[in-house]
Amino acid sequence: MTKYFDLVVIGGGPAGICGANTAGIFGKRVALVEKLHEVGGAGINTGAIPSKTLRETALALSEMRSRKLFGVDLSLRREASVAEFMRHKENVVAQERRRREEQLRTYKVDTFHGAASFVDPNTVRVAPDTLLRSEKILIATGSSPVRPPEFPFEHPRVHDSDEILEIGVRRRDRSGICLYFRCPRCRSAF
Ligand SMILES: Cc1cc2nc3c(=O)[nH]c(=O)nc-3n(C[C@H](O)[C@H](O)[C@H](O)COP(=O)(O)OP(=O)(O)OC[C@H]3O[C@@H](n4cnc5c(N)ncnc54)[C@H](O)[C@@H]3O)c2cc1C
Repeated sequence: MTKYFDLVVIGGGPAGICGANTAGIFGKRVALVEKLHEVGGAGINTGAIPSKTLRETALALSEMRSRKLFGVDLSLRREASVAEFMRHKENVVAQERRRREEQLRTYKVDTFHGAASFVDPNTVRVAPDTLLRSEKILIATGSSPVRPPEFPFEHPRVHDSDEILEIGVRRRDRSGICLYFRCPRCRSAF
């Protein structure tokens, strides 16, 4: 099945979403293709938003500890577990992603999920039976962490930024149960 648009955007990160929305605002028929299940790209899912959320949470907690409010009981727990940090990060990311999905709907951008590939200069394949055709195609496929050969990424304590944000800190409880957040091996998501 071939669908026709004024613009096809490949990549649902911040660049692709902005490009698609802008064309939508001008009344263009727009398709956005994202290879993952969720839009957002590095900006929302694995980069800016999650890393800054974790940082801000850590800063807020450490500030709470360092500022002594004598005689004031804020009735807040003063400790947070890694799981709570990661859960808060997930909530912020999900909220931001919903906001972007809502924007795409507002500007009537059709979103497709699948790895886009070119059939010809004006046709993009999303699935075996789904082709998107447009005179204009915006490629906004972003980037992924580089792994320079001098760093031993096979070592269990060496991670790139995607891994550290997805997985959190590697931990095991006393009985040896994996507390790795969303562990890629055991799939735990405590
Ligand atoms: C750890 C970290 C922290 C960061 N912190 C900040 C910050 O504080 N402030 C800031 O401004 N920037 C920050 N950045 C940078 C910011 O995240 C990127 O500049 C931004 O995400 C780039 O957006 P993009 O849309 O170009 O690419 P991306 O966000 O990488 O999105 C590209 C999208 O294209 C999709 N895609 C790829 N190939 C295909 C295909 N064939 N078909 C369909 N879809 C495809 C990908 O799945 C992805 O969703 C940070 C980045 C990282 C990694």
